[in-house]
Amino acid sequence: MADGTPDPSSDQLPTEMKRCPPDCLAALEQIMTGRVNTGTAVRSHHANSLTSVAPQWPDVVVWPETTLEVAALVGIAQQFQVPLIAYGAGTSLEGHVNAPLGGISVDLTHMNKILAVRPDDMDCTVEAGVTLQQLNAELKSTGLFFPVDPGAEYATLGGMAATRASGTTTVRYGSMRDNVISVTAVMPTGDIVRSARRARKSAAGYDLTRLLVGSEGTLGIITDLTLKLYGVPETVLGAIAAFDDVGAACRAAIAGIQSGLNLARVELLDAAQVRCVNARARLGLEEVPTLFLEFHGSSASCLSDFDSFKSMAMDEGGRDLRAAADEAGRRHIWKARHDAFWAVKTSWPGKDVLVTDVAVPLSHLAEAVAQTAQDIEAHGLTAPIVGHIGDGNFHAIVVFDRSNPAELSKVEQFLDRLVARALAHDGTATGEHGIGQGKMRYLTDELGPGVNVMRQIKRAIDPSNILNPGKIF
Ligand SMILES: Cc1cc2nc3c(=O)[nH]c(=O)nc-3n(C[C@H](O)[C@H](O)[C@H](O)COP(=O)(O)OP(=O)(O)OC[C@H]3O[C@@H](n4cnc5c(N)ncnc54)[C@H](O)[C@@H]3O)c2cc1C
Repeated sequence: MADGTPDPSSDQLPTEMKRCPPDCLAALEQIMTGRVNTGTAVRSHHANSLTSVAPQWPDVVVWPETTLEVAALVGIAQQFQVPLIAYGAGTSLEGHVNAPLGGISVDLTHMNKILAVRPDDMDCTVEAGVTLQQLNAELKSTGLFFPVDPGAEYATLGGMAATRASGTTTVRYGSMRDNVISVTAVMPTGDIVRSARRARKSAAGYDLTRLLVGSEGTLGIITDLTLKLYGVPETVLGAIAAFDDVGAACRAAIAGIQSGLNLARVELLDAAQVRCVNARARLGLEEVPTLFLEFHGSSASCLSDFDSFKSMAMDEGGRDLRAAADEAGRRHIWKARHDAFWAVKTSWPGKDVLVTDVAVPLSHLAEAVAQTAQDIEAHGLTAPIVGHIGDGNFHAIVVFDRSNPAELSKVEQFLDRLVARALAHDGTATGEHGIGQGKMRYLTDELGPGVNVMRQIKRAIDPSNILNPGKIF
């Protein structure tokens, strides 16, 4: 539907859910005494959304503490035919945690134990509610770290797996797809499934891990995950480079990647976005398209890679190339980058802000970003661009007034053009945020009959559609 909310009649999956009846609430209270809440503030918080998708509240929120409790919740949901919506930190951006048919929001934040860290195997096992920040703080003394780095450090690892998240370091270390070794999940039957053993590779049957990673809570509720870890590099060198236009910045970034430089982060901020981060973080940068970079390796390799990149950037008209002088300077730059969304929000107080992402093959990136910048200008939109351009992935952070129908329609038309352009470049409607509710209308354009196969998988695994109904399809 035009406003991004689902049209249950086109779902072709059962949608005859009931709101949680009193007997259901009593059954929940029986197994999770004191961890069941129907208060309006709590329900509203659990339909929190940072996009233009309107919030839709669950009937009740519960906080399980064990995998067995999650299995018991699935039993109750099946008995009363009410939906279950897994909830991590609610940082997803496409209405993922909304409850369009009501139901039970399953908040996994009480499942926040780090179960094992195995330095010899460079892996760890954590409960689904552990946050990225918590895990990396715990790993500090081991010399290891978990690299997947979406903007929101307080996202849970279960939620990050469920949305197949990626971020600033994906160019070097991969996304959740690459870094989840296995998960434990409660399936809609109540079965508890471990998707794989701990071996780094396996050819044993279908890849259930990859099926569950990115399934947005629609196929199973993940209760723990085994993740790859990496050694903290000997040297981390941050750098900044200014360009006259976004296309030149993209071409320089691609040249650096194609040359095999040890780039661990390659982020683009357009002039409007630099203006916002300057205002928020007092970076004092020239307000032109700018690359934020990070090199990982030995001190000699980082310096040599920086020098090589410098000449590639200068070939594209890059200037003012600076390495961040010290650790504090580097952290300041990346904090500013991570706060890009909030920098836009505070630059236009009182306005609504919508973050959207698309991704294209690397060789199409410069053209796709330049076309998007022209589109924004031609239609008089306010939409700073920021991107993980090392992965061909970029975001527009659109500023608008939701109460103004003309502005809302202009934004919807921009989103349609942005996605159409990404697909024309053989790209995707979403590189990392996922489909949720907000991007459902693009999935068939992107995958055609592939969507029917996905729907068949959903029907086979969750025939009564109790897990996060009204999402993806
Ligand atoms: C400022 C900002 C910047 C961001 N930048 C990035 C970025 O760079 N890259 C990126 O990928 N994302 C980014 N995001 C989006 C967001 O952080 C990710 O989608 C994140 O992975 C969601 O984690 P969460 O714990 O908040 O999950 P939630 O929002 O709580 O849930 C997300 C989805 O996963 C399901 N889910 C949650 N937990 C489980 C579970 N245990 N089992 C099964 N399903 C579950 C939910 O039902 C829902 O469908 C950003 C968000 C913000 C606010």
